Amino acid sequence: MNKLRLFKRLGIGVVLFLLLCVALLLLSRSRDFQLFGKLVSHIDTAVHVVALTFDDGPSAQYTPDVLATLARYQVKATFFVTGREASQHSAMTKAIVAAGHQLGNHSWSHPRLVFRSYAVIANEIEQTDAVIREAGYLGPIYFRPPYGKKLLLLPWYLKQHQRVTVTWNVEADSDLGADADTIAQRVISEVKPGSIVLLHVMYASREASRAALPSIIEGLRAKGYRLVTMAELLQDSQP
Ligand SMILES: [Zn+2]
Repeated sequence: MNKLRLFKRLGIGVVLFLLLCVALLLLSRSRDFQLFGKLVSHIDTAVHVVALTFDDGPSAQYTPDVLATLARYQVKATFFVTGREASQHSAMTKAIVAAGHQLGNHSWSHPRLVFRSYAVIANEIEQTDAVIREAGYLGPIYFRPPYGKKLLLLPWYLKQHQRVTVTWNVEADSDLGADADTIAQRVISEVKPGSIVLLHVMYASREASRAALPSIIEGLRAKGYRLVTMAELLQDSQP
């Protein structure tokens, strides 16, 4: 009898533990909720505005292409760079700033900042900020967690330092197999007023995303959208 009760309790304990694990996993992945601090995945508006955001990099090889496309269409976008790449390719980081785009912080080395210490988190963020400022960027620096992952300490750190976390609500190139037309069509059909679009354009494997960029811009404009930076979307110009 006692053994049976013990097994029952153990069983309930295991189930509760598994449920807790699932809840933490879902929480760490959530694009529109975190435990502390301000998180933005889109804004609620009827105005046709949309922010294009690019993750990772910069890279010496592909940043010029992306900047040329944006310049051709006179679009300003937001680049969430990693500190390591931004310092390795500092000329590219400066070129992004010189072209009038916004820089965001995407950590120093792109780790999953879920079960990391406060000190590691602080380092990943502050070192990257330093490189962004060295490039001459004066605007607000928002943070985008690598892989979109965050749980306890990262949101806590961001809240302590009054940092805005920016995720996204449109991601069209998460599968590497998608071609440029598919990526462009997905973005154009999924964007709503106030959307934040995530694109990856910095590496060799991202040819399709780079190629999709002109169609994305033309398609969104044809639907009446104005393409803005994250600071413009949040109407935040505080340096
Ligand atoms: Zn990334």
